[in-house]
Amino acid sequence: MKTYQIDEKGYYGPYGGAYVPEILYRCVSELQEAYLGILESRTFREEYHRLLCDYAGRPSPLYRARRLGERYGCTLYLKREDLNHTGAHKINNTLGQILLAQRMGKRRIIAETGAGQHGVATAAVCALMDMPCVVYMGQTDMERQLPNVRKMEMLGAEVVPVTSGNMTLKDATSEAIRDWCCHPSDTFYIIGSTVGPHPYPDLVARLQSVISEEIRRQIAEKEGRDWPDCLIACVGGGSNAAGTIYHYVNDPRVRILLAEAGGMGTDSGMSAATILLGRRGIIHGAHTLVMQDEDGQIEEPYSISAGLDYPGIGPIHAWLAEEGRATVLSVDDDEALRAASELTRLEGIIPALESAHALGVLAKTDFRPSDVVVLTVSGRGDKDMATYIKYMERMREAASGAC
Ligand SMILES: *Cc1c(COP(=O)(O)O)cnc(C)c1O
Repeated sequence: MKTYQIDEKGYYGPYGGAYVPEILYRCVSELQEAYLGILESRTFREEYHRLLCDYAGRPSPLYRARRLGERYGCTLYLKREDLNHTGAHKINNTLGQILLAQRMGKRRIIAETGAGQHGVATAAVCALMDMPCVVYMGQTDMERQLPNVRKMEMLGAEVVPVTSGNMTLKDATSEAIRDWCCHPSDTFYIIGSTVGPHPYPDLVARLQSVISEEIRRQIAEKEGRDWPDCLIACVGGGSNAAGTIYHYVNDPRVRILLAEAGGMGTDSGMSAATILLGRRGIIHGAHTLVMQDEDGQIEEPYSISAGLDYPGIGPIHAWLAEEGRATVLSVDDDEALRAASELTRLEGIIPALESAHALGVLAKTDFRPSDVVVLTVSGRGDKDMATYIKYMERMREAASGAC
């Protein structure tokens, strides 16, 4: 049978690998050698499971969205990662990585963050485990996401503003890697998505695979069979998507639909649709698709959602798309905003802007009435209220102009 899991060398087809500077070589190989043994050990599994349940609030519900499903002519379930502690799926990953860091004897935690969700989830587990935490965040993002900056500070993290490049996620990631290079022996870098050098893409996918493990159990209870016809998720770096599809990736009965951020449109020059627009290259230690110009300069991505504007993509998704295993759709800003307000009005759930991109897939897909569809709502919309308020004002003005 064809398998889409990672190979022994850390590749998905041609994508992945570990392209790191000499100075990091040792700590990356240590991590490669240690992570599977630790993740599979009984003490790790027990402690991780207990924290997922009692601290993060898992299992997250699988909610039958009747009204939204009716509109799109299918049986639709929402996997409610928005109900997790700290508001998104990120906590699944940070809990696992901090337990790994402890077992590897590391004493200091660093992380990068874009919208601040990964930063908050990292700061929370560092408070929990009493470990010092430094979070790198682009200056532009700090201004856009001030409440998350304040949360990280309240949780005891040091937030370091990054002023290079566009001052967003890509620059924060580069800065975190620079820090890691200076402190390779005592520092553990908690990466926020299925990106970075091997083993991070696999490590993060495994930690997020609790999502599809639960889907399997929950869908069996509700539908009497343990697989859906279709899975839908948004991709920034690809961690909530990797977790959603993990146990189904080799199951040909299950269609996989992924949403990337189209921004103002994929031919507008203002987009983050990396799988569509990217070419092969290396970013942050992995060989993957990268948005770049003729000369290989990384292009600045744009999306209304700060969690999706990354110019690379997790190597697993580059491979699934190239192989035709996953269908990747780009959902632009306005389509995502429309989908967010549709979910809010039909189901009483305000999603994160990132998750709204996954919801935008519904309007672009034909379903059979018998289809059982599971869509992951990766996070909640609290952090995006300023954007939603502006959108509602724009809609009101357009409506009054029309009269
Ligand atoms: C960070 C984030 C994303 C994007 O990250 P992935 O690694 O692609 O999952 C999506 N949704 C929410 C709510 C996020 O916070």
